[in-house]
Amino acid sequence: MLVFKFGGASVKDAEGIINLANVVEKYKNEQLLIVVSAMGKTTNALEALTKAYINQADDMHDIYEGIKRYHYEIMGSLFENGDPVFDDVANTFVEIDWMIEDEPHDDFGFTYDQIVSVGELVSTRIVAAYLNKAGLKSLWLDVRGYIHTDNNYREGRVQWAKTRDSIKGSIPAQLERSFVVTQGFLGGTSENFTTTLGREGSDYTASIFAASLGADSVTTWKDVPGILNADPKLFKDTVKFDELSYTEAIEMTYYGASVIHPKTIKPLQNANIPLFVKSFNDPDAAGTIIKENAANVFKKPVIIVKQKQVLLSIAPKDYSFVTEDHLSDIFRKFAEHHVKVNVMQTSALSFSVCFDYKEEYFGGLLSELHENYKTKYNSDLSLVTVRHYSAGTIKELTSDKTVLLEQVSRNTAQLVLK
Ligand code: ASP
Ligand code: MG
Repeated sequence: MLVFKFGGASVKDAEGIINLANVVEKYKNEQLLIVVSAMGKTTNALEALTKAYINQADDMHDIYEGIKRYHYEIMGSLFENGDPVFDDVANTFVEIDWMIEDEPHDDFGFTYDQIVSVGELVSTRIVAAYLNKAGLKSLWLDVRGYIHTDNNYREGRVQWAKTRDSIKGSIPAQLERSFVVTQGFLGGTSENFTTTLGREGSDYTASIFAASLGADSVTTWKDVPGILNADPKLFKDTVKFDELSYTEAIEMTYYGASVIHPKTIKPLQNANIPLFVKSFNDPDAAGTIIKENAANVFKKPVIIVKQKQVLLSIAPKDYSFVTEDHLSDIFRKFAEHHVKVNVMQTSALSFSVCFDYKEEYFGGLLSELHENYKTKYNSDLSLVTVRHYSAGTIKELTSDKTVLLEQVSRNTAQLVLK
């Protein structure tokens, strides 16, 4: 059996959904489990809605109406009036209607997950209905009863044993009867609340199903021809990798390559399941295959850019040296305030760290640090990681930029740039 994952860009409009059905049609004799993300930029819009709701902002209803309109327009061009999918989608949006009528809950992460998850719940309703309409018999499956997580909202941790049992229980028999369409990015807690697995987490969902079912392969269908050495939106003359090892893929995603979610590879590597990255615009092309013993051929360095970085330097208030005690105290605060360190450097009197800027957590972190430390920071930076670098690439990347921090090892160079 095969697992397919279709990301937001592949289902951003009615043509995308028709194209998805054409891709699935090519595999109509296979057993297929299809994982789908929210349509287009819906997750960003739902994040904006969550923030507007928490802040009780004036534009809350406008944002929400925009999200609904976008989905109804797409459905309008795929289905006849009166198709049951309209009711299914309306009933799904009701979860948000109820939530935003009430006072905001004080746990931001909880609220976020209950609202943002609607993107995938709705997109999969539409995709499953359209596949059925196109004669590709599909069952819509609510993933929240299969991927079990703890209640670490926005980054639910998968409870593997329970998850594997649920998936193995009924899905193999179902796949003999029809395709299965389910939501990427979501999980459920033991109290039946919804969790999310971290932004871009739908790849991870595909990998959880594949590992649990012992799939023959996973394919993630993207708007690029495969894994490229750099983001084609930022660099010209990119090259595609035909194959990559699991280890190289893990390294790339660890440093922020956004083609695959970082947690995706490990379960596949453990179960020795290959991952294909292919273009939904050219489904017969080979794409990239990630597998054991791949020939890693680097004709060009791999360049990974992470935007919206902050570089924070932290120094003990009493001008003492930075000790292990300080560092363990600082790291405990990082864990509490959702900081994930991308690069760090210590000197005698201060500790510098680069991480993703998250508006909703940053203020809280700073005020807690200020009890014992002085801080300085620079925001809106980019972190550029170059694997298999050459002196030439680094020079080129930094030519019109200020380098605020640089760390170079044998294979990998990391630069924090302004
Ligand atoms: N829709 C979610 C996101 O945009 C998950 C995904 O696309 O993988 O982050
Ligand atoms: Mg996406």
